Amino acid sequence: MKCDINVTVKLSRKIGFILVLSTVGLGIWVTPHIDWQILFSKGNSALCPFCRPSAVLDRSVFYEGPHSLGLITYKPAAEGHVLVIPKRHVMRFEELEDVELIDMKQTIQRIDQASQKLYDSTSYLLFQKNGKAAGQSVPHVHFHYIPRKEGESLLALVIRISTVALFKPMSWDEVERHKEIMSQYMQAL
Ligand SMILES: [Zn+2]
Repeated sequence: MKCDINVTVKLSRKIGFILVLSTVGLGIWVTPHIDWQILFSKGNSALCPFCRPSAVLDRSVFYEGPHSLGLITYKPAAEGHVLVIPKRHVMRFEELEDVELIDMKQTIQRIDQASQKLYDSTSYLLFQKNGKAAGQSVPHVHFHYIPRKEGESLLALVIRISTVALFKPMSWDEVERHKEIMSQYMQAL
């Protein structure tokens, strides 16, 4: 009987050890994949990462229009994936002023001209989400611009866009490198 108790105690310790190890391992793997900043800014404009220069803008803006900005996303779904946002904090598309919308359109046109030269793109994907049910994660209007070349798989891109949150974000060094390249191409237009 005493022997059975000892075996049970040892087994419990082993299972406990394995559980702790698994939890720690899972935590180490998951932590870099979570965008904590965006997680805590949901529905709170005071914490909007696009309204706090030190959070994102200082390191990622490659183009500034009168009412809009072009910035590098640190979670790209494809090479050349960038964002266009209004300077003013606006959560949804329908809240944009006409003057902001026109300026964002012009910024997108310029980005497309630069991307054609930089990536040899012939097409582009443009999308923007409004509201939680549409998958909006940052409470500030942002258009995703993704350049496309002939022959590239659209299905692979859609899968990547759907699972981009699972991939490790670019480092800030990589973001700044992309920012410098895009700045140069935008200025050369
Ligand atoms: Zn904002």
